[in-house]
Amino acid sequence: MAGEHFFLELEPPEERLRKAPHVVVVGGGFAGVRACKALAQADVRVTLVDKRNFNLFQPLLYQVATGLVSRGDVATPLRQLVGRQRNVQVLLGEVTEIKADSQQIVFNGKTYSYDHLVMATGSGSTYFGHEDWRTFAPPMKILEHAEEIRRRLLMAMEQAEQTPDPQARRFLQTVVIVGAGPTGCEMAGATSELMRNAMRKEFRQLDLADTRIVVVDPGERVLRAMPEELSEAAQSSLSDLGVEFLFKGRVQAMKPGEVIVGTPNGEQRLQAATVIWTAGVRPSHLGRKLADAIGCETDRAGRVVVEPDFSVAGHPEIRVVGDLCSYKHTRNGKPLPGMAGPATQAGGFVGKDIAAIVAGTTRPSFSWFDFGSMAVLDRIDAVADLRGLKFKGGIGWLLWAAAHLAFMPTRENRVTLLVKWMFAVVSQARASMLLTGMPSQHMGLDSPDAAFPMAPETGPSIAEPGAALRAAMDYYSNQVSGQPTQTNDGGSNADSAAAIQ
Ligand SMILES: Cc1cc2nc3c(=O)[nH]c(=O)nc-3n(C[C@H](O)[C@H](O)[C@H](O)COP(=O)(O)OP(=O)(O)OC[C@H]3O[C@@H](n4cnc5c(N)ncnc54)[C@H](O)[C@@H]3O)c2cc1C
Repeated sequence: MAGEHFFLELEPPEERLRKAPHVVVVGGGFAGVRACKALAQADVRVTLVDKRNFNLFQPLLYQVATGLVSRGDVATPLRQLVGRQRNVQVLLGEVTEIKADSQQIVFNGKTYSYDHLVMATGSGSTYFGHEDWRTFAPPMKILEHAEEIRRRLLMAMEQAEQTPDPQARRFLQTVVIVGAGPTGCEMAGATSELMRNAMRKEFRQLDLADTRIVVVDPGERVLRAMPEELSEAAQSSLSDLGVEFLFKGRVQAMKPGEVIVGTPNGEQRLQAATVIWTAGVRPSHLGRKLADAIGCETDRAGRVVVEPDFSVAGHPEIRVVGDLCSYKHTRNGKPLPGMAGPATQAGGFVGKDIAAIVAGTTRPSFSWFDFGSMAVLDRIDAVADLRGLKFKGGIGWLLWAAAHLAFMPTRENRVTLLVKWMFAVVSQARASMLLTGMPSQHMGLDSPDAAFPMAPETGPSIAEPGAALRAAMDYYSNQVSGQPTQTNDGGSNADSAAAIQ
């Protein structure tokens, strides 16, 4: 191993690990954590580097966004997950560069060497070249996104409660969700449940009839990756909850309080106080940096194309797993989907493979087990496609709950979630309805300090949502009174922004 023996300097490891190869795992998500665990018995030193100090269970972000559970229920500190493993050290930092020639990575301004590198930095959201929309329609990828969405939903309801004008109230109670995939559908169902419950019990002035949830998608049905039968069942469940669909619709523009959608029947303008973006996923920027550094192939989306053992062509010491890789060596030749199951299995495989290489034993081969896919629609209603077996309604929900609890990394979170879900099923109450954040946001002040300190990546953020909501109200008022429209798009919101993934 060339260069600095960082691990040894920090904390001398066991005698037998002193000369052990150094495995650096970048990213402590589904794939990275599983890779670390699979190396538990190997004679290697493992350094896990992540820019956050926790592992996030993204499939339940929509429950944070709609107040069903809170942040601690879906996130686990990495030190608690793998930091106690005898051959692992966890370091907080954002990897910014890979120097493949010298087998080094750069993070926190320092350079560390590796013998094996596992890249597992996942994916972020994309607005397909319209980054300015991010301010109006937050995505759902990191914890702060989910909390910001919840804040916007709750703020809109609070504001509606104090608004005498019925048209303004309807505007405040309208939510547009872009994307009818699993996240869009889960968000639509949970938002409907949130608003129904809150209006039935807690908000005295609001009328459920004024609530509107519209899902916009360029396709012709929800959950396109699922069999048509389940897709129809999901659509019918959501329609029963009052969710509307605008199919064959492509978002063409966004302004504060308005989404302009192109459809075969012409342009549609949807006025809504809350807009949520679940439409686009892009691989982590580190994939591009790796490709630039070693000239490896990427697919159209920018994922790194990998060999059957997840290594990069010409670099057997570099593996890329999870959402960041494009793995096409499957039985049917279809790339592994960007889901938690494949990421976990790939991470586990790579860990075992490195352990076998180090021990000089027979290397394993990778075969993927497809568990299927699922989506929750209502309190006890979900659709599940498990290897061709189709389930819906209550049974679908039980399978969904069992699968998610099984994947949840800690026992504590498993118990907490089960209790909260059961409580919600019985009482229809939501456990996490606090409006928190910077007071300036809640007062709608224009201070640039109102921006959340988001993950340090480039691009605009959802800064000043209080101001955005106010601008949306102004916009709406002008629309209904026929006054010329003043918008603040492209203004200080984006300019003053901290960056998010
Ligand atoms: C809202 C939502 C719902 C989903 N629902 C489902 C579902 O129901 N079922 C399902 O199977 N899948 C679902 N997925 C997809 C699933 O979560 C992903 O496929 C999975 O998380 C990918 O795992 P990963 O390990 O590749 O990346 P991630 O889990 O995203 O982990 C990547 C890690 O890398 C870290 N990182 C990123 N860049 C850097 C850097 N430069 N330096 C250091 N660290 C870095 C991040 O902080 C993060 O911890 C959902 C995803 C989302 C966003």
